[in-house]
Amino acid sequence: MPTKLTILADPRAGLSGLAPGALEAWFTERGEPAYRARQVADAVWGGNATSAADARTLPAALRDELEATFRFDTVTDTELRLSDGGLTEKALHRLADGALVESVLMHYPARGRQRERHTLCISSQAGCAVGCPFCATGELGFTRDLETAEIVDQVRHAARRLATTEKRLTNVVFMGMGEPLLNLDRVLESVDALNDRHRFGLGARHITVSTSGVVPGIRRLTALGPQFTLAVSLHAARDALRDVLVPLNRRWPVAEVVEAARDHARATGRRVSYETTMIGGVNDTPVDARAMADLLRGDHAHVNLIPMNPVAHTPWAASPDDVIERFASTLRGAGIQTTIRRNRGQEIGAACGQLAAERAGEPAPAVVARRRDRLIDESAHALRGERSHEPVPAGVGE
Ligand code: SAH
Ligand code: SF4
Repeated sequence: MPTKLTILADPRAGLSGLAPGALEAWFTERGEPAYRARQVADAVWGGNATSAADARTLPAALRDELEATFRFDTVTDTELRLSDGGLTEKALHRLADGALVESVLMHYPARGRQRERHTLCISSQAGCAVGCPFCATGELGFTRDLETAEIVDQVRHAARRLATTEKRLTNVVFMGMGEPLLNLDRVLESVDALNDRHRFGLGARHITVSTSGVVPGIRRLTALGPQFTLAVSLHAARDALRDVLVPLNRRWPVAEVVEAARDHARATGRRVSYETTMIGGVNDTPVDARAMADLLRGDHAHVNLIPMNPVAHTPWAASPDDVIERFASTLRGAGIQTTIRRNRGQEIGAACGQLAAERAGEPAPAVVARRRDRLIDESAHALRGERSHEPVPAGVGE
């Protein structure tokens, strides 16, 4: 795997990404009592402070020194867009080096016995190297891994917004930009911070991490034991088609991904949840439904079928409702729990990476046309069961 470079325009470490002992060591080195670390942590996590000025319990001189060394907030600017009558809030965050990442906050009102929920979808990388053609982040390519604090600060930002109406975040899902299992150390550190009752304090069962199928990452998680709910983006059960839809399938074929997910479910006792973006005429055929049913039959699994959100530069659109219903019945007929999800925030481009993609500018019409033709051609080959000869994307796999 190529060496990763993270160039930050601001060299100060983000406070929310520090492990608890690190801040204590910083104060101890300065001859300050260890309880100062607690005061800062309370300001960051309890008070959701965005600058040293918010850490009022500390002496002014220490506040200045803290501000010179650390950042209370790694997000420099945020643009919000609302949709679904205010039920979906999409935030485009600018980071210190100008990189743009997004998070999406979805409000679900109480229904029957289910309490109201506030779910935040966050990014783990700026861009993504996997390059799934139906995904706007994939279209952008890879910029860089996010720092732990940059991941966690998306959550703190949403928590601050919710606090203005005395609401709390109930769920965090790593389903924004990036492939979390290709930035796994930082993702694990951020899950620790979110989970720790002295920091954010959100139960592991309320955290979901989605992967496009990085097998070594899934195996590493299995060895660690249950950390959060694992979701696997499946999209197709046949290698020929999955090679096109999830290009890292050329490195880790679907059978290996499902086997790793199965082992994870067995070891952790937690059901694996599979996501499938339903693309009209591409991965929604009866042949593909049967292939998926055969692949998952007998597994402790749950499949979510999600109609594709329209993304510019692809020739594709969501599968029609009746086709999705038929696909779901085939899976259910094989005893696989299946849910059809309604997609949220379509008009503000809540699907993975769309806002940031808009900002990146429109490619030239000729480039779009070439790309569309290639996708039509590749998916036609894939539907005939012919495997792709394209290489594994750069930056994915050893
Ligand atoms: N890289 C990880 C997590 C981020 S993507 C992964 O792929 O799992 C999160 C989810 O958004 C994935 O399930 C992906 O398939 C889905 N997604 C991406 N683009 C989409 C689109 N245009 N319409 C619907 N879902 C999309
Ligand atoms: Fe990356 Fe996930 Fe988008 Fe694929 S769907 S390009 S893995 S963010």
